[in-house]
Amino acid sequence: MIHLKRITKSFGRNEVLKGIDLTIRKGEVVAIVGPSGSGKTTLLRCINYLEKPSDGEISIDEFSVHFKKPHKKDIHALRQKSAMVFQQYNLFRHKTALENVMEGLVVVQKIPKEEARKRSVELLEKVGLGDKLDSYPSQLSGGQQQRVGIARALALNPEVILFDEPTSALDPELVGEVLGVIRKIAKEGITMIIVTHEMAFAQDVANHVVFMEGGVIVEEGPPNVIFNVPKEERTKQFLARYT
Ligand code: ADP
Repeated sequence: MIHLKRITKSFGRNEVLKGIDLTIRKGEVVAIVGPSGSGKTTLLRCINYLEKPSDGEISIDEFSVHFKKPHKKDIHALRQKSAMVFQQYNLFRHKTALENVMEGLVVVQKIPKEEARKRSVELLEKVGLGDKLDSYPSQLSGGQQQRVGIARALALNPEVILFDEPTSALDPELVGEVLGVIRKIAKEGITMIIVTHEMAFAQDVANHVVFMEGGVIVEEGPPNVIFNVPKEERTKQFLARYT
């Protein structure tokens, strides 16, 4: 279980997250949707401490961090519990696909190189890149680079994988292959939180949909409720743009 409690975040005077409470069960696939600027990416980055929340608390099982005065070791522990898949892939340009996936295992988790290599090869095969192990990012399409990013996140064996608009930088014809890989790993019971503008995908893959606007959660629930019979006017208006 992941509990976010009263998470707030301000950039200067701009309060971007205004007290987010959210509970995520193990194995759940959560889609966060909502208009641009509503704080979706910031919330995701707070979970990974890429942004420092102004206040609030995150607990994951027995572990918890209070953001008012966090201990350094707790921050380190929190970071280890999640892995991020970025919009712009964020791969090391001078490393091959295989080296990109191995890096975190060898450098952060101190896993022996041979074991790390074996696991990384398996994961790259899983995302359909078994024949691209030695390719550099510049030799791969956007969709392939993003699949390396997904393999890299999986390699860390995190409690939760965070996807920050994973297909928004891709040419339309490459979106499907990345969504297909995410759909496949969702079936394996890995907890995932996905910020996305792909409503059809969210409806299909998520079992928990969160609609955010203006730094608050306006409404959340199962996809058949949020997409078909939303209660809140703001949710209805947002979704009407996609149909
Ligand atoms: P969304 O993902 O819903 O589009 P974001 O979380 O990216 O929304 O942004 C929410 C608000 O926070 C926006 O007004 C954005 O300008 C602001 N913001 C995001 N990151 C920063 C930053 N690093 N510095 C200042 N303002 C930021």
